[in-house]
Amino acid sequence: MNIQVKKPITSGFLESVNLMYDRAIELLGLSDDVALAIRNCNSTYEVQFSVRLRGELHSFKGYRSVHSEHMEPAKGGIRYSIEVHKEEVEALAALMSYKCALVETPFGGSKGGLIVDPSEWEPHEMEKITRRFAYELIKRDLINPSQNVPAPDMGTGAREMAWIADEYRRMNPTDINARACVTGKPLNAGGIAGRTEATGRGVQYALQEFFRHEDDVKAAGLTGTLEGKRVVVQGLGNVGYHAAKFLSEEDGAKVVAVVERDGALFNPDGIDIEALKAHIHARHSLAAFEGATYSPDGAKGLEHDCDILIPAACESVITHENANRIKAPLIIEAANGPVTAEANDMLLERGVTIIPDLYANAGGVTVSYFEWAKNISHMRYGRMQRRQEEGRSRAFLQQLESLLPNGLDAGLKEKLESGAGEVDLVRSGLDDTMRAAYVAMREVRASHPDCPDLRTAAYMVAVRRIASVMDLYML
Ligand code: NAD
Repeated sequence: MNIQVKKPITSGFLESVNLMYDRAIELLGLSDDVALAIRNCNSTYEVQFSVRLRGELHSFKGYRSVHSEHMEPAKGGIRYSIEVHKEEVEALAALMSYKCALVETPFGGSKGGLIVDPSEWEPHEMEKITRRFAYELIKRDLINPSQNVPAPDMGTGAREMAWIADEYRRMNPTDINARACVTGKPLNAGGIAGRTEATGRGVQYALQEFFRHEDDVKAAGLTGTLEGKRVVVQGLGNVGYHAAKFLSEEDGAKVVAVVERDGALFNPDGIDIEALKAHIHARHSLAAFEGATYSPDGAKGLEHDCDILIPAACESVITHENANRIKAPLIIEAANGPVTAEANDMLLERGVTIIPDLYANAGGVTVSYFEWAKNISHMRYGRMQRRQEEGRSRAFLQQLESLLPNGLDAGLKEKLESGAGEVDLVRSGLDDTMRAAYVAMREVRASHPDCPDLRTAAYMVAVRRIASVMDLYML
């Protein structure tokens, strides 16, 4: 029997999350009992199961942790990685509670993980493993549209979510809301337009919002807009790839370095992200990419001179050991927990601005919320109003055009005439969410002179919201 369990890595990730939480509590002046009730994970379910693969039984260990149930369902991704361990899952579940509160999605916080290296297994084997893990969680209501709704995370994507949704449907054939048991599904299996890129898109919107606030930009030692800014991205997976793509293709930023597991690539004129993605897809490595210089030393990439550093891979990559070598004046945490609490303080002392994970990668859960609401309403966004809006706009534009000697510019007319489809509405809702959450963090920071940074402000906004719900309903 092959046991797929490695020695757990204690990253201090949970301690970091709790430390940041404690700082917010102190500034909020919350009573100890409420503070404790929110802080700790409500439950963590640990499961071990075996699947017959390649003629023998292979054992897998997984977790689903529920941090808070002040609102249900609890929401949070499922991670597939050989490095998954209980503390990590609990830290990620806690982050989900705070994240959902910060971006006003009506969920508690949860997270799951399975100790598995997806690259070791064929797709049909991964399907078997995923369905079995899902079965174990579904039968305990740890996957359920009204109680606990997973989503993709590191190592999982739309494919795994489709398998999970199908497994739930088979086990609950009369549940009309079965599709809402998981988000991040493919479009043809109950997904929503714009979900795959949502987290990376949210990182882009977060940066756009940051650059709208001149004093924040100045405090980071930067000027102007995203145009021409030198960006370093660590991890060219779902989140990193989309963030890098949108920032370079739509905002005029230059991705001057990309860091992956096997090293880093550098090009001061900017790396072509689409070409690099195709290269990685074909070669499974950064090496030998023609559009940049390769170094097997990934650390060099993180410490490269740039304006914006985007860690988008995993937690605890910026620690007390390398914090003082980081040159970026602005770090946006696209990954969960990439900066440890200790490194956070060292960076703050040096005047580095950190846009925290809680906020920066909330695009995923925001669009997951839209998907879950879509599944429960059983109708795609825009279906009822799109053509009606178009008709009204067309009538207005015809009238306007008849009054103008040169008519209207054809491009502008087409833009004004078209009604919003699902992807337009998803982007609009996401943009609005990212703007509102940033403003909420800024307001709290401004009104608490002792609040040192955006991260503490984010925790303060989130914890205050959770506490206010608990105050209403908890016996
Ligand atoms: P992914 O598996 O698609 O991509 C991760 C990438 O990082 C891979 O390309 C991997 O090779 C690389 N990587 C892993 N460890 C690395 C290391 N030590 N150094 C350099 N590169 C490394 O995962 P993802 O979904 O993009 O998630 C990335 C991070 O974003 C995670 O922290 C996850 O929790 C967080 N996140 C993801 C989502 C989402 O919607 N996918 C939402 C919120 C937060």
